[in-house]
Amino acid sequence: MKKIAFTTLGCRYNRLESAELAHELGQAGYAQAAEGEGPADVVVINTCAVTSKSAASARAAIRAARSGHPGARVVVTGCYSETSPADVASVEGVDLVLGNTEKFSMAAALKRLEDNPGQGALVLADHGPMPSTLAVRPVTGMSGRTNAYLNVQSGCDDLCSFCVVRLARGKSRSAPAAELVEQVKRLADSGIREVVLSGINIGQYQDGAMDLATLAEAILLETDIPRLRFSSINPNNVSQGLIDLMASEPRFCPHLHIPLQNGSDRILKLMRRPYTSAMYEDLLNRLAERVPGIGLGADVMTGFPGETQEDFERTRSLIERLPLMMLHVFSYSRRAGTEAYSLPGAVAKVDAKERTARLMELSAKKRQKFIKTHVGKEMVALAQNRRAANGKLRGFTANYIPAVFDGPDSMLNTMVRVVGLREEDGALYCRVAEEA
Ligand code: SF4
Repeated sequence: MKKIAFTTLGCRYNRLESAELAHELGQAGYAQAAEGEGPADVVVINTCAVTSKSAASARAAIRAARSGHPGARVVVTGCYSETSPADVASVEGVDLVLGNTEKFSMAAALKRLEDNPGQGALVLADHGPMPSTLAVRPVTGMSGRTNAYLNVQSGCDDLCSFCVVRLARGKSRSAPAAELVEQVKRLADSGIREVVLSGINIGQYQDGAMDLATLAEAILLETDIPRLRFSSINPNNVSQGLIDLMASEPRFCPHLHIPLQNGSDRILKLMRRPYTSAMYEDLLNRLAERVPGIGLGADVMTGFPGETQEDFERTRSLIERLPLMMLHVFSYSRRAGTEAYSLPGAVAKVDAKERTARLMELSAKKRQKFIKTHVGKEMVALAQNRRAANGKLRGFTANYIPAVFDGPDSMLNTMVRVVGLREEDGALYCRVAEEA
């Protein structure tokens, strides 16, 4: 069998697609090279395009592939290949460029390359129409993992003015619910304890009459997966049905990551986000009331064109009063092809950086406070398959607190009842609870 190595940049969605590609290529006669194994025959670089640094990272990965795997075919795919195929093809040493639609025809494209040696880089990225449904690939055995991501949806029909992702991923499309249920069964049978439903904008999931809430309900009803979680969902897509399901179904993890992006309605409007700060605040308060102990996270962007200090202060004070346990804070990155690219009012880098730092500080405080409310409480952590560097077991509680505790190897990849002892460095140090 030929050896194939992967370098994956960017988001979890890309990581899952790399696992799916490895699975498909395995069936076509390519064995995935283990980490640190000698030179591979093919190196796949699955790229990202989300920030202006993404292109530089992709180029560095191509150079590393060339020097680490002399003689290998270098395949570049993902969002950078989709949005800038000619740029990718011009990098020395690239043999094959595949857009996001073409990436799952990689085995056939590699064959084409072999049949036509010395032709220069082959580019297959014609921005053709994406398929109308998303294929479910029966990937299991994600080595070393207790949880698995499952792509239920791809693409996006929204028009957020800063976003390059929708350009790279096309219109929203969903995977058939019946196939997703079967895939969750396969994952559960292979030892996976937690499935995380993910996608580019999962709130746009639709299969006939089924939306995301009814899909989650069907998965919980028809499979015995111990835990179901969502990756990230926009506030305008959190339906009452979803909240009710989370409140009533113990296997549906009480945890949601809900991008806010900004707390100023003026900026939200410029971003073309379909909600206001008041709607967001109301949603989070309803969630906190209806699902006690829920872990809530948010993405926030600083330095969007036109963001004044006053806008930023609005964001900061909104976050201060929201029941959030953590933030992912990003500084705005100007991306060619987006509407925001030509907006006036660029924010100085130093100001955006300072705003980001202040929000990160606030996030750390909120996280510490939230975790501390769990000291003395009993909860269940899903212990990961591997110990931390300090020899301790680690895992996440249902509401997404990282728990650290001592225990025997027999506890790896199992649900462990723990009691919170203290907060330290953003984690909850625990002891294993005594048998009842
Ligand atoms: S919701 Fe907005 S930010 Fe998210 S993928 Fe769609 S357009 Fe991009």
